[in-house]
Amino acid sequence: MITVEEALSTILSAFNPLPSTKVPVINALGQVVAENITSKIKVPPFQNSAMDGYAITSNSCIKASSKNPTTLSVTATIGAGQIPNKNVSPTTAIRIMTGAQIPNGADAVVPFEDTNETELLSNNLPLTKIKIYKKVISGQYVRPAGEDISLGQLIVSKGTIVNPPIIGLLSSVGIKSISVTKRPTVAVISTGSELVAPGSRLSKSKVYDSNQFAISAYVKSCGGIPKLLGIAKDDIEDISSKIKQGLDADMIITSAGVSKGDYDLVKKVLSDFGNIHFWSVQMKPAKPIAFGIINRKNQPPVPLLGLPGNPVSALIGFHKFGKPAIYKMMNKPIATKQNIVAILEDAIINKDNRRIFARVLVYRKNNQYFAKLAGKQGSNLMSTVVNANGLATCPETSLRMMPGEKISVEIFDWSDIN
Ligand code: AMP
Ligand code: MG
Repeated sequence: MITVEEALSTILSAFNPLPSTKVPVINALGQVVAENITSKIKVPPFQNSAMDGYAITSNSCIKASSKNPTTLSVTATIGAGQIPNKNVSPTTAIRIMTGAQIPNGADAVVPFEDTNETELLSNNLPLTKIKIYKKVISGQYVRPAGEDISLGQLIVSKGTIVNPPIIGLLSSVGIKSISVTKRPTVAVISTGSELVAPGSRLSKSKVYDSNQFAISAYVKSCGGIPKLLGIAKDDIEDISSKIKQGLDADMIITSAGVSKGDYDLVKKVLSDFGNIHFWSVQMKPAKPIAFGIINRKNQPPVPLLGLPGNPVSALIGFHKFGKPAIYKMMNKPIATKQNIVAILEDAIINKDNRRIFARVLVYRKNNQYFAKLAGKQGSNLMSTVVNANGLATCPETSLRMMPGEKISVEIFDWSDIN
């Protein structure tokens, strides 16, 4: 048996970061930026109003108050996107909307609330003269050009993972596409003569193929592009043909057929096609795992990860080994988020010195995390993964962990703690 760490380091050494490619900003979510990006404009590009109000010269209203208002003549109204064609003088004001360019001569904006505008409107009076009720400070409610981003500013550094605010920032400086590390394509194949696709009729002795969909969805949520190749029967021809269809991918993932049963033919096919190792990894679930490379003519080989068939084993196997491989190809840091420490509420018995990844439900009480087993731990019981929000680790060296002991828990990326 090899350790989880040995398996992971062998797997990772078979992958390299992929080259970069130019993609539309909107498609780059979760990808790693491959260049330093600077702004060719200022944001905002021009000084504009932060409020709906009146653009004025602050000098004219230094002493304005509700008892002693300053009265100004209103010469125009400008909305966002309109170009002011009049200047403001010490005796005039221009009605201005949020985002509209500040007219020449003005250095401040008085919000409607600090004028008699509402009064005039409710009495159906024209907005030709306006009273300013509050003293004005130069620059108030004026957003300077370049307040957010200056000309030539570095806005996103190489190596940053694109998230929604970064997409907003890039768009605000007018960038439509950026250079990022490519998304890997991952071919996903289910094997087993008992499998039928969801949507078709379930005849006797058959089960629905769930691995292909769970693994493909997980590939996608890691940032990869799954290529669903369907089901191969436990038949050498069928398995070979599916693997051939996956040879243009950056990784091939199969499920099932890697243990010791009569029909575990994936083993045979893989050995014929390339250089595959069949491991017993010192972990539970997902002990039987295959990994290696499939050779191609005149091209570099394609790594293949052969996951076990039981749905929980397949998912946990992908979580521990497939996800880091995708991250490495995408140039994303592999280190997972910090585990939490919880108080175990149920016993975990370790019969054969494997590292047990137990599905647990973590909750918080009195500022302390508690973890209870999320049901039975059979590797065929997918519902217990859905009911769990994390994976607790019982080390290979512990024979048992008892209620009350502290246990390290990795919270699932798709889960929250309530
Ligand atoms: P195997 O690894 O082929 O011995 O399969 C182990 C168990 O996992 C068997 O009960 C299979 O029916 C089940 N299994 C294998 N592949 C899938 C799949 N794609 N979806 C759901 N169950 C599967
Ligand atoms: Mg099978």
